[in-house]
Amino acid sequence: MITETELKAIRKYLHHLAENWWNSQPASRSTATCDACSYESIKRNDGYLVGSNLWCEKCYEEKAVMWIKEEGADKMLGYGVLAEAMKMFGTTGKKSDKTPSPVSNEERLILAAKEGDVQTVRALLDAGTDVNATVEGYAGMTPLMHASRSNHVDCVKVLISAGANVRMKNELGRTALKIAEGNGNREIVKLLEEAGAREE
Ligand SMILES: [Zn+2]
Repeated sequence: MITETELKAIRKYLHHLAENWWNSQPASRSTATCDACSYESIKRNDGYLVGSNLWCEKCYEEKAVMWIKEEGADKMLGYGVLAEAMKMFGTTGKKSDKTPSPVSNEERLILAAKEGDVQTVRALLDAGTDVNATVEGYAGMTPLMHASRSNHVDCVKVLISAGANVRMKNELGRTALKIAEGNGNREIVKLLEEAGAREE
């Protein structure tokens, strides 16, 4: 049997995972289907990731909370989830109880690619920042995937010229090409294909 504090932390953690999942989706995507009830319009901020499934709030309330309470969180989610949840949200219920770490150049590069700040992207690459950098909390998304997702053609060009690996996959197994196709951005699709990206 787990405590209310643990349960709260798990909910927050699952919500945090769901947010990362949304962040890895094409920008155009605004809804998803609940894997438990097939409700078709889970929107950002009302879904939870349970294992590898995305559940709507209702299913999460009705099933997951009850199940976690009765069976113990470990059975459904694995010990790792409880441990991660407690680490992140266990004491204050806020992520901020962890001392914020300074933003690394890798994270700066990801943010610049996401925002289409091509000058900063260039400067960071010139300073030797890993063009394929991934940072915790960004769903395994490389700068190239972020630029592709946000339709920043100039950043995509700069990253490719700097030798970005066009075949890397994010935590959901999606490549930059898949993301660009999801956005319907033919210009970026073409750039990626010319750089060697292929359907996998
Ligand atoms: Zn549902």
